[in-house]
Amino acid sequence: MPKSPRKCILVLAPHPDDEVLATAGAIQEHLRKKHIVKIVLVTLGDGQRRGLLLPKRHFLRLGERRYCESLAALELLDIRRERVIALGYPDRTLAQLWQSDGLPCSSRYTKARAVPYEFARTPTAPYTKAALLAELREIFSEERPEIIYLPHPRDRHRDHRAVYLFAEAALQQSELRPQRRHYLIHYTGWPLPGGKRPLHTLSPPRRLRANAWMSLELRPEQLERKCEAIACYRSQIKYFEEHLFRFARRNELFLLL
Ligand SMILES: [Zn+2]
Repeated sequence: MPKSPRKCILVLAPHPDDEVLATAGAIQEHLRKKHIVKIVLVTLGDGQRRGLLLPKRHFLRLGERRYCESLAALELLDIRRERVIALGYPDRTLAQLWQSDGLPCSSRYTKARAVPYEFARTPTAPYTKAALLAELREIFSEERPEIIYLPHPRDRHRDHRAVYLFAEAALQQSELRPQRRHYLIHYTGWPLPGGKRPLHTLSPPRRLRANAWMSLELRPEQLERKCEAIACYRSQIKYFEEHLFRFARRNELFLLL
């Protein structure tokens, strides 16, 4: 496929909401520069520690709901639905998938062993390491991104670290060398201070300060839209409102490795 003349940017999100928490400002800035921005939702966040004994349809509905929340949030940022690629891999299972030996993993929540969502990029794709690597490789070679936003390798959430490993492995298998901008979401006691403080600057955790971080300042209207977009994730706001709004700060941080 010939390369699009417009610069393509990919945002890899382990769960619906990571894309907005980490990159809502960056997304708006890329769109302002007329870049094409596409979002890859690796899981649909269809796992939940509370309610593990609930029937599988509860978790399938949760996945659909979280997908719709992402679509609504991204629409506020001017990303159309066709630019949101849902893969539908199992929430809270990606680290296990990374270490698996070829047999499909199953979700403790939806009980699925293959992508159960019709709207996913490849419905019925088996939950195997090879299938997820192949999907990412295909997406990278179709889109040929110049920049990829992806999780920080030291994020405390296992799904986030696994997405980093999957993305790096898929890139190794292709000849593409986009710039990687790593974002952090889960790190003990971070970001500080807590709460919704849009006038505060987001600083890296103390232990990671020595790394080469890039800070992107948000314009006031970009920050306002980011706050509106965060509010779309109602299923998450219900439990983690204070934490989600910690990411609505005057800048976004990306590690360049
Ligand atoms: Zn996440």
